[in-house]
Amino acid sequence: MKTRATRRQRRSAAIIKAVRPWQENPLVHSLTCGNDSQHAPLEAVEENGRVELHCRDCGYRQADIPEIVIKGKPSRALAKRVAAVLAAKPIQFR
Ligand SMILES: [Zn+2]
Repeated sequence: MKTRATRRQRRSAAIIKAVRPWQENPLVHSLTCGNDSQHAPLEAVEENGRVELHCRDCGYRQADIPEIVIKGKPSRALAKRVAAVLAAKPIQFR
């Protein structure tokens, strides 16, 4: 039983660790509140061994965290490269 709890804790920690960079990445759509998308980006919070997304503005809760957020891990390096390309080639307006 001890091993199982530890594994779950590790998974929870990994999910929380994955959600934060996703929420801070300007290249992806952040996970937003189901009541009002203008609220602060949702935060991953562990409760009773499960990770949920919470809105700190209104208390909205979302149990479902998209798999791509957990596995996708958008990298800062890629974000920097894309930003550099966009800076080097400004969009031309006619
Ligand atoms: Zn909210």
